[in-house]
This record gives sequence, structure tokens and C-alpha cells, in this order.
Amino acid sequence: MHKLKDKQLLKNFSYINGSWHSSETNFEVINPANGDVIAKVSNAGIAETELAVNSAKSALKLWSTKSANERATLMRNWFNLMMQHQDDLARILTLEQGKPLAEAKGEIAYGAAFIEWFSEEGKRVYGDVIPAPSGDKRIIVIKQPVGVVASITPWNFPNAMIARKAAAALAAGCTFVVRPASQTPLSALAMAELAERAGIPAGVFNVVTGDDARGMGKVLTQHPDIAKFTFTGSTAVGKSLIAQCASTVKKVSMELGGNAPFIVFDDADIDAAVQGAIVSKYRNAGQTCVCTNRIFVQQGVLVQFTDRFTAAVAELNIGDGLADGINIGPMISKNAVADVNKLVTDSVAAGAKVILGGSTHHQGENFYQPTIMTNVSNDMPIAVNEIFGPVSPIISFTDEDDVLAMANDCEYGLASYFYSRDIGRIWRIAEGLEYGMVGINEGIISNAAAPFGGIKQSGNGREGSKYGLDDYLEIKYLCMGGLDK
Ligand code: NAP
Repeated sequence: MHKLKDKQLLKNFSYINGSWHSSETNFEVINPANGDVIAKVSNAGIAETELAVNSAKSALKLWSTKSANERATLMRNWFNLMMQHQDDLARILTLEQGKPLAEAKGEIAYGAAFIEWFSEEGKRVYGDVIPAPSGDKRIIVIKQPVGVVASITPWNFPNAMIARKAAAALAAGCTFVVRPASQTPLSALAMAELAERAGIPAGVFNVVTGDDARGMGKVLTQHPDIAKFTFTGSTAVGKSLIAQCASTVKKVSMELGGNAPFIVFDDADIDAAVQGAIVSKYRNAGQTCVCTNRIFVQQGVLVQFTDRFTAAVAELNIGDGLADGINIGPMISKNAVADVNKLVTDSVAAGAKVILGGSTHHQGENFYQPTIMTNVSNDMPIAVNEIFGPVSPIISFTDEDDVLAMANDCEYGLASYFYSRDIGRIWRIAEGLEYGMVGINEGIISNAAAPFGGIKQSGNGREGSKYGLDDYLEIKYLCMGGLDK
């Protein structure tokens, strides 16, 4: 942390109503690369969370009645500051989360891009005039901010998962409270510092840090003054939070887990498929919701793809994300490593074969070797579960219909990928995949202009794009009558 150019970006208090709040106790933030304590952060609880909700409620009138242009100017300031401080924000992110510094810089730019994009899109919240059934009436539709938005975000993208939500919420005229994952609160607090410098008024963007996920979560899902709850995290936790939101009938959006198929057909450009598989699988040590989870390869190119993919994965450098030339950092914790290792060993017991890696890495207890498995079938633990680690199971297939059935045979529906150069097949597979997002000859698909989100048990709602604002807006119908002379 001593290498930060702007040390004021390192905050360790919650940010509520435009000021920094300490709590009676603190919790430790650990660098997953080496176990060092990098900060002690105020351990806010239910009382501070309620305070943050109250402050967001108080700020709502001021923020929602500003013009879209005024909000856009402040959000643009925020975007500019994030990009000016990209290096420092990335360093903080790598220290608390582990991903390589270059990836962390990419995440800051990606997160900031949502703030920039929605600052502009907020100017285009159009209403509608609908032809009325009788001449003395007019039907008018206006869109208004839903109100106070509460959110809970995960540790794997400590900046971007907040930026994606806050950008759309603030652009729509809502105020915002976030409880970041307790493993990665520092990136959220640095965003708050920059929001303040950008001139975003007190109470509009609040961050409460604490390790009582359940207690704080209850406030954020049940408080009557919160109109909308948005969550990114696991499907299991998401389901319980949806249930909690039912008591006050909140508008809810969920970005949950995935189990992405990555299909390589005989007619694919194999080198492009290898590159696509590497970026979509090994980014963030395999800890992304859109990570490739199952690689299906058609029989005719199975050996060719597997050989080239294995050679490329063997070249990846593993180590502390702050060191030069690192491609894969630590996983978030040793429990995460143990979970991944269990999926590997259980699948080996079921007949799978490890052809690369397959165990922890000598760099330390939080590191796992980039791993490739063959002889995998779609019902093995490594294929059924979201792996969330650097392991690629390869499943062979012969028939297009069979692979589509296997790819869709899961409860998740977030991202999917396939490689083919046959235009008919491209349309058939793209339309047949039961997923919210499909990468076609492309392994990296997310950006601010595109609608990110899942179907089935991967969630609901969309983040990014012109559709992303809808989750933060209410439609109001105005019926104007008595217009006859
Ligand atoms: P998680 O265990 O569900 O945790 C996510 C967040 O929920 C954290 O802030 C966590 O707090 C909090 N939380 C946990 N239990 C809670 C409870 N009972 N009440 C209220 N809050 C609770 O998920 P994770 O392991 O951190 O993140 C990985 C998951 O997120 C994966 O399944 C991944 O696919 C998904 N994800 C989805 C997307 C998407 O856009 N679809 C993006 C990124 C990640 P603590 O950390 O403090 O416990």
C-alpha cells in the first residue's frame, strides 16, 4: 500500500451520508497472495446499514430531481477520476483480491466504462404517448427512478460489480447503498472517496463495510424504504435474498452463478478457439461467473485442440499478482482451493483423467495449478458444478444436437461460447443455447454497451446497455381525460 501515489484512496471506514464512519470493532482484510493483513476496516453492522439507508432516502429528492445533464456531469467527473487513479485503484484491487495487476487495471477501466456509458444513457430516459381508445383522453407514459437501491456484491470483481449497478442506478436518479463482500471492501471505499471528489452529493452513494453478511443483508432486503435490491453472487445466496425481498415486494435483480459451455466444432479456427478458451477460463484464476466451465470438443478436432490448448495453458505464469509477467494469481482463500481440488479428485474417482496440473501450486496454499482434464462426462462433479477455479474439463462429442442438449442440461443460463465458421450452424447453435449471453468465435463478451445477465437460475435483469436502465426505473401511466370542448 505504501506504493500508492494517492494514499487518500486507502480508506478503512464506512462511507455514509458523505462522511467516514468508524465502528466499535474492525475486521481484517487479507492479501490472498501471502496472507498479510493489508488493512483493518470498520466492522459496521445493522445500525450503520440502517443509517446508510436513511441517508440514501434523505438524498433521494435532491438527486432524483436534478436534471439528467447535471447527474451526467457529476458521473463523468467520477469516471474521469477513476481513470486518473487507475493505477492506484488496480493496486488496491490486486492486494485485496489477488488478480494480476494488468487484469486489475482492466477491471478498473471496465467498471469506469459503465459509469461513463450510463452518464450518457441517463439523458435518454424517454417516455411515450399512446393513442387512446377515445378522443377525449390521452395516454402518456413517463419513467421515474425506483427510489433507494440496495446492493450486495461479491469479492471476484470488487470494483466492477459495484460500478455496473451504481452507474445505472445513479443515472436513473436513484440513490444507492452497497455492502461489498467482506473480503474486498477497500476497492468499494476507494470508489466512495472518488465519488465524493467528483461532487456526488452526500447520501447518494453509500458504502457499509462489515462482516455480518446475514444481519446487514436482512436490512438491505427488508427495509421498507428500499425500493429495489440488486445482488451479484452465488445462486444459493441469491435465492434466499429473493425470498427475503418478498416481505416488502421489492423490485429485484440477480446476477448469479453460471456453468458456461465452450463448444469447439470441427470447422472452427482452432488457434482462435484455444485463445478464446484461455481468456474465458483462466482470467481471474477461473473465478468469474462467465468463466468457461465445460469445454466440448467435436471428435474430429479433439486431439488437435487438446494438444494446442494444453501447450498454451502450460505457458501461463502463476504467482503474486503484483509481480511482473503473472497470468494467474492466487485464489481467494484456501477453502476455495479445497473446493476446486475436491471437484477434481471426485471426478478422477469417477473416471476423468488429469493431463495438466491437478493439485495445489508451490507458490502457496491459495494457489492452484492451471489444470486440464480429459475423459470427462457431463454428469461428473467437475461438469455439473460451477468450478470457480483454473480447471478445464474437456468433453468430446460427435453430433451437433447432442452437444446442444448437453450444453443446455444444467440449471444455469449465464454465458456460453462456441467456435464455428459455418453460418447455418452459427445461427442454429446461437438460437439453441439456453443462455443469456453467447460468445460466437469470441471468449470475452462483456462491455458497457451490451446487456449482461442470465436466464434460468443464473438470475434476472440486465446490467449494461440501454436495457440496463430499466431495472432502476418505474413506468408510470398518466391518463389525461376531459379533453373535449
Ligand atoms: P456469495 O457467497 O453468494 O457472496 C456474495 C455476496 O453475498 C458477498 O458480499 C457475501 O458477503 C454476501 N452474502 C453471503 N451470504 C449472505 C447472506 N446470507 N445474506 C446476505 N449476504 C450474504 O458468492 P461469492 O462466492 O462471494 O461469489 C461468487 C459467486 O458470485 C459465483 O457463483 C459467481 O458466479 C457469482 N457471480 C455472478 C456474477 C454475475 O454477474 N452473474 C458476477 C460475479 C460473480 P461476505 O463475502 O462478506 O460473506
